[in-house]
Formats: sequence, structure tokens, C-alpha cells
Amino acid sequence: MTEQTGPLPVVAIVGRPNVGKSTLVNRFLGRRAAVVQDTPGVTRDRIAYEALWNGKRFTVVDTGGWDPKASGLGASITRQAEYAMKTADVIVFVVDSQVGATDTDLAAARILRRSDRPVVLVANKVDDERSEAGAAELWSLGLGEPQPVSALHGRASGDLLDLVLDALPEAPREQEEEEGPRRVALVGRPNVGKSSLLNRLARDERSVVDSVAGTTVDPVDSIVTLGGEEWRFVDTAGLRRKVNTASGMEYYASLRTEAAIQAAEVAVVLLAADEVVSEQDQRVITQVIEAGRALVIAFNKWDVLDEDRRLQLEREVERDLARVRWASRVNVSAKTGRGVDKLAQHLRQALDSWETRVPTAELNTYVRALVQETPPPARGGRAPKIKYVTQADVRPPRFVVFSTGFLEAGYRRFLERKLRERFGFHGTPIEISVRVRE
Ligand code: GDP
Ligand code: GDP
Repeated sequence: MTEQTGPLPVVAIVGRPNVGKSTLVNRFLGRRAAVVQDTPGVTRDRIAYEALWNGKRFTVVDTGGWDPKASGLGASITRQAEYAMKTADVIVFVVDSQVGATDTDLAAARILRRSDRPVVLVANKVDDERSEAGAAELWSLGLGEPQPVSALHGRASGDLLDLVLDALPEAPREQEEEEGPRRVALVGRPNVGKSSLLNRLARDERSVVDSVAGTTVDPVDSIVTLGGEEWRFVDTAGLRRKVNTASGMEYYASLRTEAAIQAAEVAVVLLAADEVVSEQDQRVITQVIEAGRALVIAFNKWDVLDEDRRLQLEREVERDLARVRWASRVNVSAKTGRGVDKLAQHLRQALDSWETRVPTAELNTYVRALVQETPPPARGGRAPKIKYVTQADVRPPRFVVFSTGFLEAGYRRFLERKLRERFGFHGTPIEISVRVRE
């Protein structure tokens, strides 16, 4: 086997629920890390595994872990397909040949026909020769020859893997590097000083771009040079032309905050250092965490603090921001410019953490030792055993723990704390989900 370096090629599995995606992924993975079921309440958009076939390593992404109730089946599969087209080297589209092509399958096929990546159409659940007719009907999807397999019994799944790997490019597709400067959301409740800070950044650097005709710069964003680097502060139009933040507008302000966070890679949550951390501040922080963005907390109005207030603030932070102890913290004054130049290094560190990938071997060595020392507590007499851990994703780092039983929230928090102790992740939320298998 030749050692592959760099990112592995990505095979994405797309399809409706129950067509047999997970079963097929298990086939692809061999025996090692079987994905049997999701822990209830742990839903995810997608999950990635390393696989090996004929000496070739690749990543299998199961795009099917979404919650169909939340967004509607049609929308989910459309999202899966689009995500796969953006990120995968080969797309495997799975259809249940016993059911035939449903409207949802047709909708997905319509999207996948536009793909510039190879799409392999799998007619699953062809358990014997008799059911091959059902497979042939899937020619109607317009995605070429349907490959009849039985994921459950392994029928023709080796042939399928050969075909998929043949379709892989020699070198994996370049990660879709998004063009231009890193994207920052400057968010916080009204009056913490967002507009003032943006003006300060702009004044010092004299490089706010409001709208540049004929370029890709969106007029609602600002390009700011900070720490020798350009940053794209997203959705700042409302900050510069101060919108009315009277009570009725609050709802819109929060939508706007959400939009900015979604558009950004890292969020600066601005707090007023001369006031206690409020419910509303907490909500903004939660929005950032739930969106899975890197986080920098900036305490503004530092210029008005006296020694007493500073000490008091330390205690408040300890009490009110304990859940985000991992976030980068910086004290600034939009008024005097104090600390503003430090913002860039905090943004960079948070983004670095956000993109950190821990090699599987290193991760497992560490977790194995950890678990030996502090095993998960027994529940109902039987203690769950942790079998294997993998980092399924970055931006933010997401870990999947394969265990023989459910891991309690307390133990998951312990794992998070330990992962942070060992690997840093300063400035980024991390996610740990548990897959239970017998
Ligand atoms: P997913 O929701 O697409 O991930 O589907 P699963 O892999 O969970 O499979 C859904 C159901 O179809 C399970 O009961 C599987 O055992 C069954 N299944 C999967 N592949 C096959 C197959 O090739 N033949 C038959 N008969 N059943 C299958
Ligand atoms: P926004 O609603 O978050 O955009 O907040 P603004 O930028 O409009 O600021 C709200 C108020 O706080 C204004 O009166 C600002 O002058 C004041 N302010 C903003 N930043 C600072 C600062 O660093 N120090 C002091 N003393 N006042 C500030």
C-alpha cells in the first residue's frame, strides 16, 4: 500500500431515508466502525469516515443523518445533493429498487444531473437475480446505468466499490477555498458599541469598502485591514447606517444577527464591559455556538472602567461566561482604540482552532489512555465501553465516539474538557456525538 498524504478523496452518499445508505456505508467501511444507529437527539447533517479498499484510502461522507421532520424531506435531499456536489469527488446516489423512483428521488436526480462530479447510481436492495428488473427501471432517472447491489447481503458491493474508486480522480479535489479575506461577524446587543468599533477599525485602516462596482465584494460587507491582513466584516451595512433599534425592531435585529453569523466563519461578540452580561448577550453567544462558528468575545468600553469595576467584571465573567471559558477574550475600547489591534491575533487563533484536525491515531491513543484512567460510569450495572473515536469534521471540529452504550452528558463534558486540555481548540466550539453499537 502506498502512503497517501494530504486530504483524502471524498465519496458522498446521497439518498432518501431507508434506502440503505448506512448499510452501504458499513459495507464500504468493512467491519471496523459499523454505524448502526444514531443516538436519539444527536442529529447531524453529515458524517465522515475513513475507508480503505484495495489499498486506497478515501473518506466516505454519509449525508443522510439529518432530521427529516425539521425541514421536510424534499428540502433535505436537495441540501444533501447540493452539499455533495460542492464537496465530493464522487457522488453515490442510492435508490431503493424495491420501491422504485419516488418524486423525492426524481427531484434529487434533477439536481445531480447538473453535477460536474461523477455520479454513481446505486439500485439497492437487489437481493437476488429476480429483483434486477427493479434496478433497470432506474435508468429513467437519467443518471446512467443503475448499479444493482444488495448492501445488506453484500451482493455486488465489491464491484460497486471498484467502480466508485475508478471514478475517483488521481488527486482529490481542492478544498473549495473560499475566495478572499476571512469572514467576520461583528455582533452584540444594541449599544455595546458595534458601530463605533467598526468606525474605529475603518478609520485606522482607511479601507472600508462600501460597494465596489464589478467586484465580488458584497456592498453590505466591509473589508478592513487589521494586523496586516484583510478581513471581511459581513453584513455591516446596518451598522454604518444605523438602523432604528427601537423595541419593535428587535426581532429584525436578531434575524440580522443570525444572518451575519451564518455568513461568517468567526464571530466577534461585543459586550459592554461597564455592564453585567445580560440575557440578550447570552443569546447572541448561544447563536454563535449553535451555528458552529469560531468565537471571540470582546469587552468594549474598557476606557470607562475603574479598578473596582475591573475586579467585579472578572468575577462576573467567571460566573456568567463559564460555559465559554474556551473562547478568546479581548478587552477593547472603540473610543480610544485600546486593544483593537489585538483583535486580529484572536481572530486568527480562533480560526486556526476551528480548522484543526487531529489525526485519528493520535486521538485514539489519547482517548484510550483517558478512558482507562477514567472509564464511563456504569448505568444499570453495565458500563459502556468506548471503542473508537474519530474526528468527522472541521469548521468546527466534530468528534464521533463509538461506544457500546449511551454516554451521559457529564461524561461527554469530561471528554470535551480533556480534548481541549490536550489539543487546545481555543476559540472554537467543538461537538461530540456518540454512536452506539452493540
Ligand atoms: P438509510 O436510512 O438510507 O441509512 O437506510 P439503512 O441503511 O438504515 O437501511 C434501511 C433499512 O433497509 C434497514 O432495515 C436495512 O436493513 C434495509 N436494507 C438496507 N440495504 C438492504 C438491501 O440491500 N436489501 C434489503 N432487503 N434490505 C436492505
Ligand atoms: P451599537 O448599537 O452596538 O452599534 O453601539 P454604538 O456604536 O452606537 O455605541 C453605543 C454608545 O456607546 C454610543 O453612545 C457610543 O459613543 C458609546 N461607545 C461605543 N464604544 C465605546 C467605548 O469604547 N467607550 C465609551 N466610553 N463609549 C463607547
